[in-house]
Amino acid sequence: MDYQELAKRVIAGEKPSRREAVEILDSPAEYLLEVMGGAFRVRYHYFGRSVQIHQLINAKSGLCPEDCSYCSQSAVSEAEIEKYSLIDHDRLLEGAKRAAEAGSRRYCIVISGRGPTDMEIEHLGSAVRKIKADYGMSICVSLGLLNGEKAGQLKEAGVNRLNHNLNTSERFYPEICSTHTYQDRVDTLAAGRGAGLELCSGVIFGQGENREDVLSVCEALRELEPESIPVNFLHPVPGTPLEGIPELGPAQCLRLLCLMRYFNPRSEIRVGGGREVQLREHQALALYPANSIFVSGYLTTPGQAADEAHRMIQDLGFEVDVAGESDARVGSRAEPRIA
Ligand code: SF4
Repeated sequence: MDYQELAKRVIAGEKPSRREAVEILDSPAEYLLEVMGGAFRVRYHYFGRSVQIHQLINAKSGLCPEDCSYCSQSAVSEAEIEKYSLIDHDRLLEGAKRAAEAGSRRYCIVISGRGPTDMEIEHLGSAVRKIKADYGMSICVSLGLLNGEKAGQLKEAGVNRLNHNLNTSERFYPEICSTHTYQDRVDTLAAGRGAGLELCSGVIFGQGENREDVLSVCEALRELEPESIPVNFLHPVPGTPLEGIPELGPAQCLRLLCLMRYFNPRSEIRVGGGREVQLREHQALALYPANSIFVSGYLTTPGQAADEAHRMIQDLGFEVDVAGESDARVGSRAEPRIA
C-alpha cells in the first residue's frame, strides 16, 4: 500500500477503509517505516514537530468499588499501591507547580472511584480556581462517571477538559468491567460535551481485545471527535486480573498508534500509560504518529522523568509546545499548521 497516498486522502477527510486498516495492523516489519511515514505526514500537517507534555496527579488513590480489570486501584486488585482519600488543596497546588515547572501544557487531576460526590466536586472546583489563578494552565479532570449537572459545575470552575476513556470496543467492554457499561462511559462523555467541556477519550490496548475490537474503538473515537486521544498500552501490574497477559511488543504498539492517527488526524494523540514498558527503547518513535506524552509517571506506576522526556524530544529535532492556542476552543480540533 502507498501510505503517503493514504495520508493525503486522510488529510482530505477520507476515512481509511477496513482493508487499509487491517493492512496497517498486519504490516510486516519491512514496511513499518512506511506506515509510520504516512502517519507522520498526517501528524505534521496538523501539529508540525510540536509535542505537548502532560502531567498527572492521582488525587485519590485506590478504594474503588469498580472492577476494571486493567486497574491496580480496583476492588478486585491485590496490587500493592498507596491508598488515600481526596488530597487537600495544598497538595493539588504543589502538583500544579511541579507540572508548570516541567513545561506541562496541561495538568490532569485524576481520582479513583465510580464517580465524584458533590463534596468532591466542590473541593476540586475551588482548587481548580486557585490553580488557574496562579498558573493559568489548562486543566483536565478524570473523575469517573458524571452527569450533566456535575459536568456543568466543573466547567464553571474553569476545568477545560474532561477525560473519560472508552478503553476498548463496546463488544469487549464486559470482558474488562462488570460494574459499569460502555454506554455509561458514552453517557458521561455526552454530559461533558453538553456542558461545553473539551473531551479527552482514548483506549488501553493489550487487554486481550481482537482486531475487530481495535477497529471498532478507532471508529467510535473518530465519531466522537475528542480533542485528545490517550493511547495507553496495558502495563499488567502484578496483583491485577490481567497480570501475565502477553505484551503487544514495540512494533505492534507503533502500528496501533499509526492506525489511531490515520483514523483521527486532527485529534491530539497522546502516548499514555505503558509507554515505557511496552515500547521500551523504541518510545521516541511513538512521537512520529503521536504528538503528546505524559511525563513523571502515571497513577500508580512510575514513568519517564520530565528532563529525560525533554531530551528525547530535542534529540528528535521536535519541540515542546507549552502554551498551545487551542485550549479555549471547544468542539474544534487542530487546524492545519502546515500549508
Ligand atoms: S479505572 Fe477508575 S473506576 Fe475503574 S477500577 Fe480503576 S479507579 Fe475504579
